[in-house]
Amino acid sequence: MEHDAEINQRARLRPITEIADALGLGADDIEPYGRYMAKVSMSAVRRAAAGRRGRLLYTTAITATPAGEGKTTVAIGLTQALGRMGLKAAVCLREPSLGPTFGVKGGATGGGLSQIAPMVDINLHFTGDLHAVASAHNLLAAAVDNHIHQGNELGIDPKRVLWRRVMDINDRQLRHIVVGLGAPGDGVVRETGFDITAASEVMAILCLSHDMDDLKARLGRILVGEGRPGTGRKAPWIFAHQIGVIGAMAVLLRDAIKPNLVQTLEGQPAFVHGGPFANIAHGNNSILATQTALGLADFVVTEGGFAADLGAEKFLDIVVPQTGLVPDVVVLVATVRALHYHGGASRSTLHAYDPEALRRGFANLDHHIRTLQRFGLPVVVAVNRFDSDDPRELEAVVAHCQEMGVRAAVADVVARGGEGGVELAETVLATLERERPSFRPAYEWEMPLTEKLERLATQVYGADGVDLSSRARAELEALEERGFGGLPLCVAKTQFSISDDASRRGAPTGWRLQVREVRPSLGAGFVVALTGDVMTMPGLPKEPAALRIDVDQEGFVTGLS
Ligand code: ADP
Ligand code: MG
Repeated sequence: MEHDAEINQRARLRPITEIADALGLGADDIEPYGRYMAKVSMSAVRRAAAGRRGRLLYTTAITATPAGEGKTTVAIGLTQALGRMGLKAAVCLREPSLGPTFGVKGGATGGGLSQIAPMVDINLHFTGDLHAVASAHNLLAAAVDNHIHQGNELGIDPKRVLWRRVMDINDRQLRHIVVGLGAPGDGVVRETGFDITAASEVMAILCLSHDMDDLKARLGRILVGEGRPGTGRKAPWIFAHQIGVIGAMAVLLRDAIKPNLVQTLEGQPAFVHGGPFANIAHGNNSILATQTALGLADFVVTEGGFAADLGAEKFLDIVVPQTGLVPDVVVLVATVRALHYHGGASRSTLHAYDPEALRRGFANLDHHIRTLQRFGLPVVVAVNRFDSDDPRELEAVVAHCQEMGVRAAVADVVARGGEGGVELAETVLATLERERPSFRPAYEWEMPLTEKLERLATQVYGADGVDLSSRARAELEALEERGFGGLPLCVAKTQFSISDDASRRGAPTGWRLQVREVRPSLGAGFVVALTGDVMTMPGLPKEPAALRIDVDQEGFVTGLS
């Protein structure tokens, strides 16, 4: 089979105006970026988002191996399958980050015959949204340091500036830096660092904003730092609106707020918009993209980051309560190789036939199924087929799900495109006909923060309880005291285990969630609880994908995946 990049660049795409037209979007409703990409105008977004006609199919996965188990690919393949069946379907995805594209995992435009296009543009600069987010973020950072330099009227403690800088390249060298060196005119010396753009709170804000006014209000609520505590009084909190560059940040984001429209290899519309991390942020594409798609298409497939305990949980506890975007069905992606992994197989033999490991690995699948059912949502398991999979094992996964009373189908969408997803699509449609969601979040926002944490730990992660560090306890108390106890939680936890220990596979029991630190993301509107070390500026591996990527005289790109 050809490489993903070859398939993608050789594909004959339809002009984006045709894709828009099929959705009922006219020439005035879109702003083309070249022939194959467009932004949807805010007036069209408002119109479409006002009424929901579509069913929402939410794609998540079991706990993955580091390569990713194919949520994006299955989401695209399912959309292509629904389109092939004559149904009006669209897919909503996150925008790729250059970090993974040049690092380990590769791009985020699907694989084989289930891809969105044009992949080179989407994976690289696309319509500039990530650059816009980084610019807005760094403008605020510059304004904060300038404020301190120019007399510091707000009394910001240079040692307590929380707002770091961002860029969209994995560069561990910039994690911890000293800025402001030099002469008195060169700024104030202090320690800070860079995060990857996907980790910017501005990215999370962009994805949760209902419109420009909401975006500005949220930007204004960003906590940028603290003043010096006086004797016997708490350190004052300094918010972005006090710095005064909210309008300028919003100007930088005026196009980024509009959803991007591209297409699948089989011509279905794909809204690709926003890309927040799924650990320190909520890990789902923009609500505006999903709402727009739901107003225009009958079936909208979307995907959240990492596994069901992270991306899906955050969608259900952070996004749904403020948007009402309850999924009609959850598609839970599983692979034979990940089940082998959870069953204890060594990393080098994940592709070998091993029914015993597979059977033991079901513990992970079952845990995620039960979690989603506890949210009151109908579940369909999609077994993402790899070429090396043994048919007996694929069947064993489907049979196991049926024993659990859950519908399942093998998805062969990488090798066969939409055609290979028809069985999955039919299974999803049958589920839509027979089951309705009766949604229950894991917790109510009004509960105290510690109680919400306890709920997540015991009901979603299978822990016995929560242990707070003394620092985390003090930070949670401070948030309650300052009136932020009613915000939802965003737990930053390893994606490689349901537990907080990356080395524990399957469905770990007999452990307690260790919360080390708590960080308010008041603009985004959630409280981040950090467990273990969470990387907000990844490094490059010894052999990064960037070593293999190249372009020829004609502009044909090789090595992107
Ligand atoms: P996720 O969204 O879960 O992180 P992706 O869909 O991005 O995963 O897939 C991760 C990588 O694995 C991509 O490079 C994709 O092309 C590849 N991949 C996914 N499914 C298959 C499959 N069935 N066969 C071969 N490669 C696959
Ligand atoms: Mg993905």
